[in-house]
Amino acid sequence: MPTPLHLLEDATEFHARHIGPDAADEAAMCAAIGVASRAALIDKVVPASIRRGQGMDLPAACTEQQALAELKGIAAKNKVFKSFIGQGYYGTHTPGVILRNILENPAWYTAYTPYQAEISQGRMEALVNFQTMVCDLTGMDIANGSMLDEATSAAEAVTLAKRSVKSKSNRLIVAGDVHPQTIEVIRTRCAPIGLTVDVGMAPELMNQGDYFAVVCQYPSTTGLIHDLKAFADQAHAKDAAFIVCADLLALTLLVEPGAFGADIVVGNTQRFGMPMGCGGPHAAYLACKDAFKRSMPGRLVGVSKDAQGHPAYRLALQTREQHIRREKATSNICTAQVLPAVVASMYAVYHGPQGLKRIAERVASYTAILSAGLQKLGLKVVTPHAFDTILVETGARTEAVLAAAVQAGANLRKVSAQHVGIALDETTTRADVEALWSWLAPAGAALPKVSDYAQGVESLIPAHLRRSSAFMTHPVFNTHHSETEMLRYIRSLSDKDLALDRAMIPLGSCTMKLNATSEMIPITWPEFAHIHPFAPQDQLTGYTELNELLTGWLCQATGYAGISLQPNAGSQGEYAGLLAIKAWHESRGEAHRNICLIPESAHGTNPASAQMVGMSVVVTKCDKEGNIDLADLKAQCEKHAANLAAIMITYPSTYGVFDTHVKEICAVVKAHGGRVYVDGANMNALVGVAAPGQFGGDVSHLNLHKTFCIPHGGGGPGVGPVCVVEDLVPFLPAHRTAGLGKETNIGAVSAAPLGNAAVLPISWMYIRMMGADGLTKATETAILSANYIAARLSEHYDIHFSGGIAGVKGGGVAHECILDLRPLKDSSGVSAEDVAKRLIDYGFHAPTLSFPVAGTLMVEPTESESRYELDRFIDAMVAIRQEIEMVEAGEWSREDNPLVNAPHTALVCGANEWTHAYGREVAAFPVPSLRRAKYWAPVGRVDNVYGDRNLFCSCVPMSAFADEQE
Ligand SMILES: *Cc1c(COP(=O)(O)O)cnc(C)c1O
Repeated sequence: MPTPLHLLEDATEFHARHIGPDAADEAAMCAAIGVASRAALIDKVVPASIRRGQGMDLPAACTEQQALAELKGIAAKNKVFKSFIGQGYYGTHTPGVILRNILENPAWYTAYTPYQAEISQGRMEALVNFQTMVCDLTGMDIANGSMLDEATSAAEAVTLAKRSVKSKSNRLIVAGDVHPQTIEVIRTRCAPIGLTVDVGMAPELMNQGDYFAVVCQYPSTTGLIHDLKAFADQAHAKDAAFIVCADLLALTLLVEPGAFGADIVVGNTQRFGMPMGCGGPHAAYLACKDAFKRSMPGRLVGVSKDAQGHPAYRLALQTREQHIRREKATSNICTAQVLPAVVASMYAVYHGPQGLKRIAERVASYTAILSAGLQKLGLKVVTPHAFDTILVETGARTEAVLAAAVQAGANLRKVSAQHVGIALDETTTRADVEALWSWLAPAGAALPKVSDYAQGVESLIPAHLRRSSAFMTHPVFNTHHSETEMLRYIRSLSDKDLALDRAMIPLGSCTMKLNATSEMIPITWPEFAHIHPFAPQDQLTGYTELNELLTGWLCQATGYAGISLQPNAGSQGEYAGLLAIKAWHESRGEAHRNICLIPESAHGTNPASAQMVGMSVVVTKCDKEGNIDLADLKAQCEKHAANLAAIMITYPSTYGVFDTHVKEICAVVKAHGGRVYVDGANMNALVGVAAPGQFGGDVSHLNLHKTFCIPHGGGGPGVGPVCVVEDLVPFLPAHRTAGLGKETNIGAVSAAPLGNAAVLPISWMYIRMMGADGLTKATETAILSANYIAARLSEHYDIHFSGGIAGVKGGGVAHECILDLRPLKDSSGVSAEDVAKRLIDYGFHAPTLSFPVAGTLMVEPTESESRYELDRFIDAMVAIRQEIEMVEAGEWSREDNPLVNAPHTALVCGANEWTHAYGREVAAFPVPSLRRAKYWAPVGRVDNVYGDRNLFCSCVPMSAFADEQE
């Protein structure tokens, strides 16, 4: 028999790996919902008025191997040059044990933000190590658990200062030798809120007039180490805050900013083991003095205690703070940079204080030798005091020097027509220093050798600015220095956490879908990883092509005309999008338009972002079906017609509802002069089915870390592209430091032109492998799975905001469904939080708790979960409902039942003493499958109130574990 030709086709299509349910599962799921097919379900739940007219024009799907080969070809167009540019980005050696066991390990990269404290103790310990490391190195009282990048962190420090100081001035002073990208982002962020920025920090300037804060760089962007004490004193005399942007490696050798009066210290941790990655992702940091702590932006991990009194970590103070404080929130930061922060903290754990100092001394010594050699060659070095960076006067030879370096495969920094900057780092070798001399030497000069300086050279660090204080003395930084110990420490932490590599994480609004291994592989390719963001454009051709392809594909998916990938989280995309709307109004002479309508269902970042661009938030109502209240919207539009700037809606809404009036809503707002912002966090319910750019949106952000497969990393990195219709394209973010953008473009919103560039290959791979049909099927399956859960659980729980669609059991939802537990609170005393914690005993990460409605759980299964896993979750929820019935029936008391006591630790279940009304087996193994595979929560229920009352955000002293040593 002849071989059929179809056997020559590739055997496995990627979409069949990405999408959990197969055809048989799909049929069974449709039957449970009561619909004939997936297509029939989509026809019922997605309003016909918004369906796409035509498909997405994308390349046909391909296999993992083909996509990797194609991307390798694009990557190869980047030129991996040795970088001496500095300016905030440096070469670093990622220790192999950290590269493989954290950066490339799904136990770390597929975890979610640690809102459920009990299943996140491992990553929170790593973040507490990060906070302790930052506090110690900067000499500050408190540090948070990562910021998006150095430039935005500096901008956040400015607004933190504005909120905290006595000075009533609106004027900010920024030293001229702060990194230029930081100055650019500070300017972008200050303008819309009426803060003026004066660049230049001469003592005379600081004596003239009032100001609320001063920002300076230590060491400066050109490498100079300033003695900043007098400036700090001068700022304090004006009741202003003194903000220092500092390099952590330098701080191992330099007097810490806390010692000379800094109020806030910010910076990047990239050189602690994260590759440059064309600008990101990296964790920035923000540390401040104690008096500012309650106004700090970002995520802060604190130490509290669990139900048994043992130390336990939790997110402190700011937990979900935008959701509570909305437009009064301290910042809009939601997704941050947790994975890079974990890498940086582990780099510090592995090297320890002595190792870090050794690395820094080596860099400083090479810098001193480089400087001495250049002077011997007759060149003028204009940075007498330096750590790793020097500025050299190259005069008329500047271009020739830069060209000689490029010829040899290296980049120097052109600081002016007469000056070249050279930055060294951990990867610098003797050969590098000698090569640098050869590129800078005047023709015919005799070249020095590093061995000429065998006797040592004078340090460029002034004696009085040498650090004398100890840092990182906690045992965690002084124990795990062998690779065996390090490997086990990393493993012991990841074992404490529940990530996607163990179970589904059905978090509504967060889209925890598969992060395929083939999508992850390219991010550590040297052609993507070892690229400086400010390298010459002709070396970034691969990144340029990646950017063009990805933005083109995302335009297809969204129906928009232009996209910028610069924002490095959804919140930053919101900020950039609103700024574009504001700039558009200004361009038409309508700068007064400043009202932003936001429905009460909105995610907290929406009002927080609106406030940051200087808009006033007006909240509009929703009806009992979860739709925007059209009458109220019309009334608000009329009332604010003269000043209406925009509306921010989420579609499908955060209630998981496809509002059938969305087109009308958009039209009403536009008729009153406003623009429509559609929060694209729920794009997983739309790709291939409906496009916001077609049904009325003017601007959206996407969350590539939700819909387009970038892993959540335990709370970042993310990418939040901002997408706009044609007439707003001229207002997308520029990056003037990198020479990008025209007059009309808004300023940079991230430190690097392409933001978190190094994770973009993940989304590229996903779209390339799925193709238009695969993506559409993914969307439809995500909706199918949510409706399957709603249908099956509707017999046991109230499904909130559903019931509008006839013939769909469960009432019909979008890609997520809300379980209303409030009635059960009344009948049994069991809260939504108790159910969330009890799910841990069943081996699950809880759904989104009390957002967008208090007392509910919002379940989003995504297309990637198999029917087996969906059923396992449904079975757990049904079993939990039966447990609640036991309480309702009085079999178990309201005070002592497996729900209020959850989660149960091994320590509790294994103790000799057992006083509960239910058995140990009910506590630990409520369903039989747990007997074979059991996840044990490492701590019991964490006490939130105690944690905020007794705020403690550093490594736990060993004495707290004294009972373990009995
Ligand atoms: C996740 C989310 C955001 C914020 O995105 P980040 O990337 O976390 O900043 C905004 N809106 C909605 C509806 C979201 O779900």
